[in-house]
Amino acid sequence: MSIAGVSCILGEVSMPDHLKCMLAEAPCGISPSVLEVITRPNLEREGVVFSPSSIQGCHRQFVLKGRHEWYIPVDKAWPSARGTIFHHGMGKLPAPEGTIGVIRELRMFAAIDTEFGEQQFSGQIDEILLMRVEDDVLHVRITDWKTKSDIPHSMIEPERRHLYQINYYAWLVTEALRHYLDNWDTIERNPSSLLSLRQAIPEFKSVRVEEISVSYLAGNKIRTFVSSRLLSVRGKMKGESSLGRDGQMHWHKYVPEEYEALELMPIHMFQLSYIEGLLRSGIEAQIKAQTEIAAPLVGDDAQLMCGGCPVRMRCIELGCNQGYDMSAQRGAC
Ligand code: SF4
Repeated sequence: MSIAGVSCILGEVSMPDHLKCMLAEAPCGISPSVLEVITRPNLEREGVVFSPSSIQGCHRQFVLKGRHEWYIPVDKAWPSARGTIFHHGMGKLPAPEGTIGVIRELRMFAAIDTEFGEQQFSGQIDEILLMRVEDDVLHVRITDWKTKSDIPHSMIEPERRHLYQINYYAWLVTEALRHYLDNWDTIERNPSSLLSLRQAIPEFKSVRVEEISVSYLAGNKIRTFVSSRLLSVRGKMKGESSLGRDGQMHWHKYVPEEYEALELMPIHMFQLSYIEGLLRSGIEAQIKAQTEIAAPLVGDDAQLMCGGCPVRMRCIELGCNQGYDMSAQRGAC
């Protein structure tokens, strides 16, 4: 089955009616350009079966979306559309000074052996900085950008799924980057990929990822976690409470401003062999889920993914018939 339309303030609307509405009355108030980002199929994902998001996503949802018609939840899709728009901008930035160059938004594929034969794992990496060539090894640093509404002071390490995602990318870059660079002029690449060079890349035989980082970008701050060191950033603003003229206690900041120091945990870089094992088992689980439908999510995963799931009602209906407790999906049997 496929996308039937959108689910918005009008309820479930077929795709032809949505397209008419978006240029006419559009009571949602979302601009057609943004609606296009939300609803257009991601062409850059064509041919992608196994990726960090497919492995880490809900395998039950994947199968249910294939079996039933479903509607794109427009309101809930905004955070991800905002990320897409932001990435389009970041993807055009030139190489920073001091590097050989940068590769942005390159979708890569690398083969991995599984119990179901060789499969292609794919990922699109936001930024690969080409640092230097030493002893025939090209040293690179990779970054994944994440847009966020807010970054709380309590966030001193990256989210677990982002930690694994950037490690999956490190494996992919180590495996496949040389092939892409060697064949840059002839290889078929996704349209948004960019190679910006400050100098010619010296000859090299292999690639080493020397640093991974996840950078969270909110409206008013950036917080970055890197593998190579512990970072210290500004935490809460310091101040004190005192009795005001109105007889109430009021908090006010110190002048000049002072901040608590916040130490950010270095991001863990796993052994490549360990990551390869995780990718293999993730791909195998995804393949198995197509024949034996996976169990509903529980715990943090359910909290993160079920609220915006476009097949949640189908999942609940099926789960009740299967005898699962569906309270994590906010459904009662
Ligand atoms: S409601 Fe949750 S468990 Fe069910 S298919 Fe959707 S994401 Fe998966």
